[in-house]
Amino acid sequence: MPMRPPKRCLALALGATLLGCNRASAPASAGAAPFSSSNPFASASPLLYQAPPFDRIHDADYQPAVEEGMRRQLTEVEGIASDTATPSFDNTIVALERSGALLTRAFKVFIAMTQANTDDTLQRIQTEEAPRLAAHLDAIHLNDSLFRRVRSVYERRADLGLDSVQTFLVERYYRDFVRAGALLAEPDKARLRALNQEESKLATDFQNRLLAATKAGAVVVGDKNELDGLSDADIAAAAEAARQRKLDGKWVLPLQNTTQQPAQASLKNRAVRQRLFIASTTRAERGDSNDTRQIVKRLAQLRAQRAQLLGYPALAAYVLDDQMAKTPDAAIKLLSDLVPAATAQARREAEKLQAMINKQRGGFKLAPWDWQYYAEQVRKAEYALDETQLEPYVELDRVLKDGVFFAANRLYGLTFKQRTDLPVYHPDVRVFEVFDADGTSLALWYCDYFKRDNKSGGAWEDSFVDGTGLLETRPVVFNVANFTKPAPGHPALLRFDDVKTMFHEFGHALHAMLTRVEYPRLTGTNVPTDFVEFPSQFNEHWALESTVLAHYAKHYQTGQPMPRALVEKIKRARTFDQGFATTEYVAAALLDMAWHTLPVGPQQPDVDAFEAQALKRFAVDVPEVPPRYRTSYFAHIWNGGYYAGYYAYLWSEVLDDDAYAWFKEHGGMTRANGGRFRDMILSRGGTGDMGALYRAFRGRDPDVAPLLEERGLQADQK
Ligand SMILES: [Zn+2]
Repeated sequence: MPMRPPKRCLALALGATLLGCNRASAPASAGAAPFSSSNPFASASPLLYQAPPFDRIHDADYQPAVEEGMRRQLTEVEGIASDTATPSFDNTIVALERSGALLTRAFKVFIAMTQANTDDTLQRIQTEEAPRLAAHLDAIHLNDSLFRRVRSVYERRADLGLDSVQTFLVERYYRDFVRAGALLAEPDKARLRALNQEESKLATDFQNRLLAATKAGAVVVGDKNELDGLSDADIAAAAEAARQRKLDGKWVLPLQNTTQQPAQASLKNRAVRQRLFIASTTRAERGDSNDTRQIVKRLAQLRAQRAQLLGYPALAAYVLDDQMAKTPDAAIKLLSDLVPAATAQARREAEKLQAMINKQRGGFKLAPWDWQYYAEQVRKAEYALDETQLEPYVELDRVLKDGVFFAANRLYGLTFKQRTDLPVYHPDVRVFEVFDADGTSLALWYCDYFKRDNKSGGAWEDSFVDGTGLLETRPVVFNVANFTKPAPGHPALLRFDDVKTMFHEFGHALHAMLTRVEYPRLTGTNVPTDFVEFPSQFNEHWALESTVLAHYAKHYQTGQPMPRALVEKIKRARTFDQGFATTEYVAAALLDMAWHTLPVGPQQPDVDAFEAQALKRFAVDVPEVPPRYRTSYFAHIWNGGYYAGYYAYLWSEVLDDDAYAWFKEHGGMTRANGGRFRDMILSRGGTGDMGALYRAFRGRDPDVAPLLEERGLQADQK
């Protein structure tokens, strides 16, 4: 699918089990109120599937629960480590899998709220707890007697009568410990702990500064004429955004997290487009308290030092060693191989845009803030397709129920029932119970779709509760996005990119909800980063599937189906602007690699100069096409867990386009095909080698050809 690649997905970033998290680092100090049995996290929630009791949870509950959770887990771990019985799968690995119940319960809800519905209190707690949590994980992974037991089980794994998944789990644990520094000598462990402490603190600082910078960067417009080109609904939303900031009578264009801002596609006033673009690209570079550049420089150095300590030349080598790609070279090769075709295509697209400017006697040279506006004009001229023509046909509720849910029903037999009796953390949030084809209840799914100033940018999926056999838990999963909230009384009409985002994040949710895995460490989306985007991007394909599109794309007022001609236009226009989309993505992914292949050395003196040099070195320095994220607001890589991992979207895209090709070869969207995909991919979590899992499904290794075709880059490929 020719997607605008990166949606922000935290599925892996935070780890389903705290032990599984690879951002390990000294014991907690108590600063919070005492923990009591009246704390809502004190016992498993009595609600369906242990759904968080949001009606009883207050900001003051998190810190005592998280701190008590860490204390209890350390006690549990100490018990496992000091066991005098011979180390076994059950008394060591399974015991670790069962540890930390209170911490996991509280932390998963806490971290979800810091991302989706934060406030000053939560941000303060996060700032205090992040280094303590890093220290907590270090206290487990760097516990010598515990590691000796894990190692003993690992070394005898072939003789313990374990099945293949249990063997894989043992290997996974051993690897987690080694990667967290378990084999280091004591002085090096102390250094590692200090590095992890500082890194976790800086990553939180980065997140807090970026949130403030993005909010402060919103463009305020005092004259409605300057918004010429925006739809009435967008203007109403801008007025509402202004009211919420106590700027009544003005209009506010809040910043989205990417470099390019959606409003630039419609704003006729070039000066306003330029203001918006500059506000976006310099949001975190203003030399004020929200400037992130000092943090970024230090983080890059800390990570290089961590990698060196663990025996790797750079952070990327450390990260990739545990991914499907295996080496930075493999990831860089996939990206670099696309650069000539992508940039050549982008330059051709730029020429068309310039021709459009000239034709309209614009009298200026195409700049990055003009791209989306003129791309929209060219799209209208060449494909007669206008985004505003689409909007009435993509109303959020219809897309959800008749599109996203419908596709899941056709493929996997799932049905959905809204649950208004379960408490939510914000009035915009909705909850659905998910049922299997035979009527069995499977999971709970929450959605929180509208942009708020206290929500991080982008879109993501994660869970409040993971589904596991061992703990007898069912998945409680959520999707968060940042769609423009309609003014009161207006329907939520989406952009087509938003529709794809809904299918994308729901693809992650399916991966989490359809899991049939015994062990927490391996369940659902606990897979390598470069595999985790495979089910999500795969699910995007169904947004344009004829039967699905016909089912959801109906006029929000008349219920009339989207005219066939318009459908055809959408399909024809699929590869439109892919030179731009591929280039801005590949530029950001290579920028990530540039920062994370840095060896230990002096700190980079200048973030912007380093960025410019890196783009030049990889030949992705197209002036009109800046990277999708610049260094200073690249949340994926500084606090999102996607460091040395932004390439993963493209890596996964090779898989998802290739898997979709399998569907096309085998009769398309059928229950039988869906059942096979569910059985062989979605239900398996991270229970084996991902390459082998994929080969079993596909019958061969993944092929890049379907991706090139989907992106319309094939003809350019040598
Ligand atoms: Zn994703």
